[in-house]
Amino acid sequence: MVPDRPLEPGPPRLSGLPPGINATFPSAPPAPGPRVPVPPPAAPASLSVQRINGTDYVDVAAFFARLGLRAIGTPGGTRATFQGGGHRADLEGGEREMTLDNLKVFLGEPALLRTRVLYVSRIDAEKLLRPILAPPRLAAPRVIVLDPGHGGGDPGMQNRTLGLDEKKLTLDVAQRLKPLLEARGWRVVLTRSDDRELSPVKAIDLLRRSELANREHADLFVSIHFNSVAPDTRTSGTEVYRFPPQFQRSATSWGAGQDDDAERHASPVNRNDAGSAVLAYSLQRSLLASLGTVDRGQKLKHLGVLRGLDCPGVLVECVFLSSDTEARRASAPAYRQQIALSLAEGIAAYAAQVSPAP
Ligand SMILES: [Zn+2]
Repeated sequence: MVPDRPLEPGPPRLSGLPPGINATFPSAPPAPGPRVPVPPPAAPASLSVQRINGTDYVDVAAFFARLGLRAIGTPGGTRATFQGGGHRADLEGGEREMTLDNLKVFLGEPALLRTRVLYVSRIDAEKLLRPILAPPRLAAPRVIVLDPGHGGGDPGMQNRTLGLDEKKLTLDVAQRLKPLLEARGWRVVLTRSDDRELSPVKAIDLLRRSELANREHADLFVSIHFNSVAPDTRTSGTEVYRFPPQFQRSATSWGAGQDDDAERHASPVNRNDAGSAVLAYSLQRSLLASLGTVDRGQKLKHLGVLRGLDCPGVLVECVFLSSDTEARRASAPAYRQQIALSLAEGIAAYAAQVSPAP
């Protein structure tokens, strides 16, 4: 399960801003530069930005056209499909859920249909869609930090019927994944190699995991978890989380009665939003292809374990321990090896995309 307890005190939130007051988007002080150079986002003047209800939006057809995708089918209605360059995108006005190459991705802001034009937020366009469709060129990864979730006094999620503790499964998957990555030439560091937590205080435990990654000069970080919605035993599937870009709210804050939890200030991990989007997408694709699980999508959450990272980082919820079927599968070493293999494939796919061989 996702350890989402934020470090306190939390950064100021946007919810108190009066309507119409821009969240300082163009004029906010830029976050410090990324560890590796990222090409500046191509933002040609002719791609006009519309301010709608305090959020900057771009015409999605014009945006996709620059990446080689064209609308297919009959224009009109709330749904639109774009294709080109080996990619396909399906969006719907008013919805945050979309698909990219048939994988479920959640936008930070709902797509918007206005006078027959479909818009996506500028942040989604630049921090999510463009990186996945036209990956940024980054330095080749050398050091990978794997984070087996929970440990010690924190067992994580449990399936008492089968006697499963999340903390043991995450460590087992990380220990299976380590040699697979080392065989591909990467240096691999685990945030823990036995049954321990890095601090009994959860917020400090999560912070120490990202600090360890930064100390090791990690080029990417993957936090490994198993999900649960007990007592529901039927929900199943795979989710991948990334930290919301500055000014975007988490997936859970879109629910009825939820506060807008968007953060005014960038966190360290936000310097690597583009890389995190590509990493999340690569892992999601690889896990689903290998495990055949339900696609629960790429989601956003202000996760304490990701916030302080100096590199791209994501958290994967492999399968549900509360699901009778998936928990039984996860209890088998061969299945955990399959999870490790698919994570290795996903990491390799990420590396190939951001740093193609010459
Ligand atoms: Zn967990």
